Amino acid sequence: MAKTPTKARTVDLKNKRLVAEHLRMIEAWQDQENVYTTLCHRLHQTLDITSLLDLFAEEANRLIAFDSLAYRRTRQTGDFGYLRGSGGPHHCIYNLSLQREDLGTLRFDRRQRFSEDELAILEQFIGILVQPLRNAWRYREALEAAMTDGLTGLGNRRALDDALTRSAELARRHEQPLSLIMLDLDHFKDINDRLGHIAGDEVLTQIGDLLPETLRTSDQSFRYGGEEFAIILPQTDHEAAFQVAERLQTALRETALECDAGEIKLTGSFGVASLESDDTPQDLIDRADQALYGAKREGRDRITTEDASTA
Ligand code: GH3
Ligand code: MG
Ligand code: MG
Repeated sequence: MAKTPTKARTVDLKNKRLVAEHLRMIEAWQDQENVYTTLCHRLHQTLDITSLLDLFAEEANRLIAFDSLAYRRTRQTGDFGYLRGSGGPHHCIYNLSLQREDLGTLRFDRRQRFSEDELAILEQFIGILVQPLRNAWRYREALEAAMTDGLTGLGNRRALDDALTRSAELARRHEQPLSLIMLDLDHFKDINDRLGHIAGDEVLTQIGDLLPETLRTSDQSFRYGGEEFAIILPQTDHEAAFQVAERLQTALRETALECDAGEIKLTGSFGVASLESDDTPQDLIDRADQALYGAKREGRDRITTEDASTA
């Protein structure tokens, strides 16, 4: 059999190497394509911002290794923060926006520097994230609107039910106390009758500011109905809750509420109840409400606890 000339064999080998390299590149490119397609598909499966960022981190980490992903968005109604992992000394930060809407900041941290190629891939990923992220924000805003009282900006009754259920679960799990204060403004009808409904609305709006200003940030205030408010006090036993109610009573007595017709002073009646081991959230609301009506019966501008002692 005739020998293959040496030169021809060299060329052949070189070609094989080129073909193999080319195939590897196509494979890598297809992998990358698959990651993008999977990311796109997965990100459209949830409207929850935290789950969305979890999915994003998982998928992005398949191509680019990073130690932590942080996301933050500042809004008037409160900041939103997300953190997964713990970072290294190198980071890259992206300000996200879509059609001029600021969607917050995304930050990747890791031990090694990011190369230009890696940054280019991350940017492709972020490009895929922004639209589902905006959808998730729209959904969250719609939920928040459904849970917010339009006049005072406080949570409404639905929000109270949700928050109380969550707080009661947490309190039980960590064996911590939990208390609830119900507040009903005294003789509020008189304000409407004397000064008009708009003045009444102005006063209610200011009560919506006064409550959070007077409380710890971990306490949550809600408008339960007309001129009735509820306050959830996590990690607060009955005695401490009573003291909080006293602070609110004083703040209310001493604050000059402003409306078009001038300054108004108001008082309130308070009911305090604390979570018992077999309470449902509704039991707690009912007992605080009964205590509140005790305060009304006994003459208003006072605090009544569920064991019927008053101040
Ligand atoms: P009490 O001391 O017994 O609580 O007397 P009150 O007048 O506060 O209670 P009542 O239940 O008789 O009246 C509640 C009033 O609150 C009547 C209602 O018009 C008024 N109110 C409820 N919601 C609103 C609101 O959104 N805006 C205004 N301006 N008034 C409201
Ligand atoms: Mg009232
Ligand atoms: Mg009332």
